[in-house]
Amino acid sequence: MLVLVVNCGSSSIKYQVREVTPEGSEPSTYTSSMPAINENVPLATATAGMAGGEVVTKGLIENIGTSEIEDHTQALEILAQRLDEELGGRTIDAAGHRVVHGGERFSAPVLVNNEIIRAIERLAPLAPLHNPAHALGLRAIQRTYPGMPQVCVFDTAFHRTMPEKAWRYAVPEDWYEMHGMRRYGFHGTSHDYVTGKACEFLGIPREQFNAVVAHLGNGASATAIRGGRSFDTSMGYTPLAGLVMGTRSGDLDPSVVTAMLERNPEMSAQEMNRILNNESGLQGVCGDSDMRAVQQRADSGDQRAQLALEMAAYRLAKYVGGYHVAVGGAQALIFTAGIGENSPAFRALVCDQLGALGITLNPALNEHPEGDVARVSAPGSAIEVLVVATDEERAIAEATAALMWERVKN
Ligand code: ADP
Repeated sequence: MLVLVVNCGSSSIKYQVREVTPEGSEPSTYTSSMPAINENVPLATATAGMAGGEVVTKGLIENIGTSEIEDHTQALEILAQRLDEELGGRTIDAAGHRVVHGGERFSAPVLVNNEIIRAIERLAPLAPLHNPAHALGLRAIQRTYPGMPQVCVFDTAFHRTMPEKAWRYAVPEDWYEMHGMRRYGFHGTSHDYVTGKACEFLGIPREQFNAVVAHLGNGASATAIRGGRSFDTSMGYTPLAGLVMGTRSGDLDPSVVTAMLERNPEMSAQEMNRILNNESGLQGVCGDSDMRAVQQRADSGDQRAQLALEMAAYRLAKYVGGYHVAVGGAQALIFTAGIGENSPAFRALVCDQLGALGITLNPALNEHPEGDVARVSAPGSAIEVLVVATDEERAIAEATAALMWERVKN
């Protein structure tokens, strides 16, 4: 099955075409043994046995909303033309969309219809930059490829299993009831995918698996995995909360925000939001947001870069300690995404602070982890430390194909 995986932003569309096949069986026999995708089945379990690895083609369409490309409909026409040429006559079977916000409604991938698109639009107050653009992309594909099935995979869905004590904020109840102020969590597709990979690697049944996942890219979040599901996560109402990130502050005392607004009466809430999202984190502390640059500077003796690194690692180490308790004892600590997969120095900086949990790294393995899932802890480590390559596009392609095959079955 050929699946078009798309990430529709307001001014760009990132896409991949993936070839998805059920591993070792025909689709018809496969579907009969596949667990139904419903609220309580993690994505990785529902799609287990899929092989969504092969990227047939991929690319990016930019400058949507300019004189170059008027809108998403025109962008899709360009994309369709490109795909016609690149796929040599093969047709796309379905589209899988990465959708940032599924609110409280969506806890699993869904097949799209007009009502679902409207529901995604209604969630715009929670993700003003993303959800309206996703809806535009969904409608543009409806127009360009009439009748082609589309599936939405939500960044928030995996975290719908968190208990209320973890997702509620201790603020007046009507802030939650009237305004939806609660922890939603993000990066769910990645946390889910790498959890599944780690279970397979360690030979632990998913429902018995407790772990802490550190997804460390430009945006970064930690998730407490209990019984194979999300139990708590560091991002909150928005992706600003939690860890020290490239340009985002992560956690801080909310009084910092109110005090800074009081001292700068001309500063708007929008400007405050911009500073906390784009000029804080590593960028705010040392002036660089890219981990490679920060590490290079720290290596050559730059104190501010060193401090930024230590702050990011210390914050994460505290989350790991807290989540170890939250899950009743983690069996594994999983590093993933750009920094998690590629920075031995950052992993070491974090793990060096986790001696109290009995975590020890194997320095040689940590320096050169091999394969998509690699153990980097020493044999005596109380908790396994793994480096797992995340692949959100693959997870989306597999979830989309799983829903298609499910549909054939029913
Ligand atoms: P995004 O969240 O945008 O998908 P990525 O997962 O690609 O981001 O992660 C980007 C981050 O990974 C950047 O901070 C980058 O510096 C860091 N990174 C990538 N490769 C390395 C490396 N070899 N060493 C250290 N950091 C790296």
